[in-house]
Amino acid sequence: MEKTNLEILVKKALDYAKSFENTGKVASYIPELFKADRDALGVCIVANNKKIYKAGDCETLFTMQSISKVVALILALQTVGRDRVFDKVWVEPTGDAFNSIVRLETHNHIPLNPMINAGAIAVAGVIDSEFPFSDFLALMRKLCGREDIYLNEKVYLSEKASGMKNRAIAYMLANEGVLEKDVEQTLDFYFKMCSVNVNAEDLARIGSILANDGVNIFTGERLVESEYALIAKTLMVTCGMYDGSGEFAIKVGIPAKSGVGGGIMCCVEDNFGIAVYGPSLDEKGNSVWGLKILEYLSKELNLHYFSGAKVKEYI
Ligand code: GLN
Repeated sequence: MEKTNLEILVKKALDYAKSFENTGKVASYIPELFKADRDALGVCIVANNKKIYKAGDCETLFTMQSISKVVALILALQTVGRDRVFDKVWVEPTGDAFNSIVRLETHNHIPLNPMINAGAIAVAGVIDSEFPFSDFLALMRKLCGREDIYLNEKVYLSEKASGMKNRAIAYMLANEGVLEKDVEQTLDFYFKMCSVNVNAEDLARIGSILANDGVNIFTGERLVESEYALIAKTLMVTCGMYDGSGEFAIKVGIPAKSGVGGGIMCCVEDNFGIAVYGPSLDEKGNSVWGLKILEYLSKELNLHYFSGAKVKEYI
């Protein structure tokens, strides 16, 4: 097959998604997010042949939101190690909404996994640093391979002003001794990490690093320890799409993490980092058209973890 096949395929995936009615809604519970263009859509693949394939809105900046939970988990593992992290958060799926508070009362007070808000706030609190957000940004810049990764100040302030449920979660965690650091400072870091601006290529680059056991394919540099890359990917499989993780595992079958900013970051072992951006979300908080793109790519390229990828024909 011709080298350009993957370029054609990403465009086809985008057109396929857009052939469906846009039934989603842009997140409005964080008011600043509601300003996004509901019909925006982009897809980017960082492939192991060191080429980058893009279609649609790949330059648009949007906030990471829950996708930051993967990077925060890696940072926590790197700074305090797995025992201390998993002392404060478990690794089991919930079947509940990402911002649910209910299990903190009914399930032993420890958040069930790092991919939900309660778990990510616990992870944010365990990072051993005086300036956790600076460390988070530094790690993001390394993972994305560019220095100009910044906080979206407006989204951050909007999250801070509207984040009452996260505040409730954090105070419950503090009440149970899960959160030992200052609650407001931990929340401030959590709101900031969610409000870091990225584009689809940035997320595809992070996906590629995870797909390659923690190594940046462009530089050969190891940025994430193999053990931590494995933990991150496994949790993306079981919990990355919130209470839609099971359905996504059947329909797409690749490790993925979504955010209410409209991004989904994925990795295909030894092959690809993939990211989509489409801010129109389904009721679970996952990008409606983004899911369609991933379904299409998974089917066309046999990406499902149980189907044996055939991407070599395409690159
Ligand atoms: N900042 C968002 C929140 O805390 C992240 C949620 C998400 O992307 N699912 O609610």
